[in-house]
Amino acid sequence: MNSITGITGSIARVHLGAGTAGSEPLPLDRLGTFIGGRGLGAQYLFNEVGADTDPLSAGNKLVFMNGPLGGTLVTGSNKINLAFKSPLTGTYSYSLCGGHWGPELKFAGFDGLIVEGAAPAPVYLWINDGRMELRPAANLWGKTIPETEKALRAELGGDERIQIACIGPAGEMLNRYACITAGWYREFGRGGCGAVMGAKKLKAIAVRGTGDIRVHDPKGMMEFAETLYRDLKAHPKAKERRTYGTNEMLRTVNDLGYLCTRNFTEGYFPEGTRIDGPRMREDIVVGDASCYACPVACGKRSRAGGAFGSVLLEGPEFETIGLVGANCGVSDWDAIVKATQICDEYGFDTMNAGGAVALAMECFGKGIITAKDTGGLELRFGSGPALVEALRMIAGRRGIGDILAEGIKAAAERFGAPELGMHSKGQGFGVYDPRGCKGMALTYALSPKGAHHMYATTMGPEMAAKSTLSIEGKGKLQRDQQFSMCIADSIGVCSTLRVVLSVKALAGAFTMATGRPMDEQGLLTAAERIINLERLYNIRLGLSRKDDTLPERFLREPLPDGHAKGSTVDLESMLDDYYALMGWDLDGIPTREKLLELGL
Ligand code: SF4
Repeated sequence: MNSITGITGSIARVHLGAGTAGSEPLPLDRLGTFIGGRGLGAQYLFNEVGADTDPLSAGNKLVFMNGPLGGTLVTGSNKINLAFKSPLTGTYSYSLCGGHWGPELKFAGFDGLIVEGAAPAPVYLWINDGRMELRPAANLWGKTIPETEKALRAELGGDERIQIACIGPAGEMLNRYACITAGWYREFGRGGCGAVMGAKKLKAIAVRGTGDIRVHDPKGMMEFAETLYRDLKAHPKAKERRTYGTNEMLRTVNDLGYLCTRNFTEGYFPEGTRIDGPRMREDIVVGDASCYACPVACGKRSRAGGAFGSVLLEGPEFETIGLVGANCGVSDWDAIVKATQICDEYGFDTMNAGGAVALAMECFGKGIITAKDTGGLELRFGSGPALVEALRMIAGRRGIGDILAEGIKAAAERFGAPELGMHSKGQGFGVYDPRGCKGMALTYALSPKGAHHMYATTMGPEMAAKSTLSIEGKGKLQRDQQFSMCIADSIGVCSTLRVVLSVKALAGAFTMATGRPMDEQGLLTAAERIINLERLYNIRLGLSRKDDTLPERFLREPLPDGHAKGSTVDLESMLDDYYALMGWDLDGIPTREKLLELGL
């Protein structure tokens, strides 16, 4: 039996080309230095996927990794990390997924799963209590996410407890921002991992496990979980999330003038009150949904559709409403919900999709592309039907949809307007316009996977401190937020828990789960080590300060209206501040002393 608790001690490894599946021990010495999920994923990818690997080749790998709290009774202990080289950005990438799939993998006997090679024909992987089998999936190829889940579950005997992660047609057609969807509405969302899985001809990974997860201190863990559950349920933020979902943020972000609007040409959406949290609850929400072991239930079930036909789904969440809504000038629930359904069912990221359509709308409005390029579609800001049709074209890679499925950067270059592509390192932005929330400028510029809003969620503390428009202290805030997010991502809990959980408390939970001594400083050092390792992966690809950048629009064009009117981003000063705190040189390269200090 494994000497450390909280983990299974076993990693599954599947080679699709050879058609083999086996397991290997998780090197236990890595647990203290890389914690789990995101940290271990970075380490495996750094060691096993080289700089010259084409992300869509058989040489790329999908490294799924749980954390030591994953699947325990601790509230929100459901996040599993996936590390891979991104076909969207060409860089290191990671993606986290909630729901039930990660815990189920642990119940089936594995902390992680490494998928390598490529199958000659479509297959799916069936993991059942430690046994693994690759099976033909030609009958599933071409099916949408819900169709795949239904057909595969039936094929496996109909057990509702089987957890399925799969790709839709977008992944099969190598849409560069295709997702892997686990439990239909939970996604490994950003960076195009669905295309990596599609290139490997792996349609789905079905998992069922009945094992237990032993912890070192069950009594302490139980008390910890009960306190956490109670504190979280009573916290005002959790209450807001339970009532309005993540869309509780839209009204505040709009009022503060940094809501992505019409391809980030504006930061205030005048029609924002039609799509904010309270209006959503009143107009379309019909129920709540939650991940494994979470009382917050920030998922919302909604019904709308109107002219597009009745749609019932889980979502849309804030980032989707911002990117396919305000960023395309659309404030019509029927169009937003239909847009969400298309992305969810075909399996591609709503955020990059919204950014790509907004780019096309701006280009159309400026005459850079015309009806000849769009197949006659009047692709104008504010048109719900145009938004929906453009997404259908992306889903099927038809006409201009084929260009937009290559990502915002590639599409903007193809249109001859690279300056209008709102991305960093090829990744589309979250809803937060960094001109109106300066800390997010660093988050977007520094994230190793491109403009990823969850890399460091500075917006919360910035709003609380009423400092959204200041650059003072943003280097330190960035570093602190990166560390706390990295710890949550690695230990295996949802980042929302950070509203009630300190790093010290997480260190205590790590010890109670694993039996390994861990303190606050130990977790912070591990987070710094992980962030440096992710940085090193990209440095190996040739990235440096020149790539820690933002579109000229954010740097030079002042916001035209709203609370942040007149604001631009002074990125270089904030980068200097952050690099110095991290012990990196002026080019953003970690110094030799820093790497030695971190044992890298
Ligand atoms: S807060 Fe929301 S996303 Fe996080 S675990 Fe709970 S339900 Fe899932």
